[in-house]
Amino acid sequence: MPQSRFARRRRKLLARLKKLGIPALLVTNESNVTWLTGFTGDSSYLLLGHGFGVLISDTRYTVQIAEECPDLDVEIRDSRQPMHQAVARVVSTARTGQLGIESHSTSVASWEKIEEAVSGSHPPLELVAVGMVVNELRAIKDADEIAEIRKAVVQAQRGFAAVSSVISSEMSELQVAHELEHLMRRFGAEGPAFEPIVAVGARAALPHARPGSTRIGDSGFVLVDWGARTTGGYRSDLTRLLVTGKIPPKLEEIYGVVLSAQLRGIKAIRPGATLKSVDTAARRVIENAGFGKFFGHGLGHGIGLDIHEEPRFSPVAQGVLEPGMVITVEPGIYLPGRGGVRIEDDVLVTRDGHEVLTSVPKRFEDSVVEIG
Ligand code: ZN
Ligand code: ZN
Repeated sequence: MPQSRFARRRRKLLARLKKLGIPALLVTNESNVTWLTGFTGDSSYLLLGHGFGVLISDTRYTVQIAEECPDLDVEIRDSRQPMHQAVARVVSTARTGQLGIESHSTSVASWEKIEEAVSGSHPPLELVAVGMVVNELRAIKDADEIAEIRKAVVQAQRGFAAVSSVISSEMSELQVAHELEHLMRRFGAEGPAFEPIVAVGARAALPHARPGSTRIGDSGFVLVDWGARTTGGYRSDLTRLLVTGKIPPKLEEIYGVVLSAQLRGIKAIRPGATLKSVDTAARRVIENAGFGKFFGHGLGHGIGLDIHEEPRFSPVAQGVLEPGMVITVEPGIYLPGRGGVRIEDDVLVTRDGHEVLTSVPKRFEDSVVEIG
């Protein structure tokens, strides 16, 4: 990855900080550090201000940092020097008067340690809590990021197509999940975007079922929620129902409702649309069909370096869609003890509307698979 991209992102952040009146920010969120620097290791903070940027890391990463972000100043601490002391040393040299800290990813304990370590600074240093400034910038993907997400979609879809053709009634949820992970890796993924959900029959009523030893058997259907992570760190996220046998008519009915709701939600996606209005467009279809109370989660979430990131579609979401956002649309209906249906695709907001990045067929008849 060319360095200019990360420098451009840091400039964008500095412009934002200037508007907020914050002279320097300690970025503690791991994905935010990666997005701003290209560094893919962990346990490292970025201190960014006007005229300086320092990556604070430790001796395990000396070589990796030189490779991944050669244009950045680095403060390498050894095992005798705790993080808060390294932060205090760097920030006291910068003499910014005020230091913003990402409050959503800094523990109260670390905050207090940093506060204590800088307490003797001259001039005095005031710590201020800063919210999701970097996360909000990350919500809008640049061309390289969109290309990475497209890659993650292809890897996930090839893996899914391959697993659908080898699935058998003898296989357990866990075996299907492992096979899917293995196949996505074979198609170039670094790994799964998250631990896949494979939920057989009534277990599909649990929106976050963990795969277990239940066999496909003759339960009739299995819900699969999966995605791939590229070597560049970007993720895809899809959900499909596989119909493996006879399924209760009620399930087929809710499949139709969920699909209509999903299509309605996708149709509402365009620049300027409020996040809430997209959620409402889909939710109304489910409510009108009488299943409103069985759809308990938000309609979707941004994807990128993280599997759940800004923005979010929900009944209480604030904000509007902008070109470059990539967000899932995943309505679901879950009937306790009987099963559930969720259908999930990844959608890019374009200048004049949207593009659905995922393309696994989703009509009810498309979800029927022959199993051995
Ligand atoms: Zn998902
Ligand atoms: Zn999702």
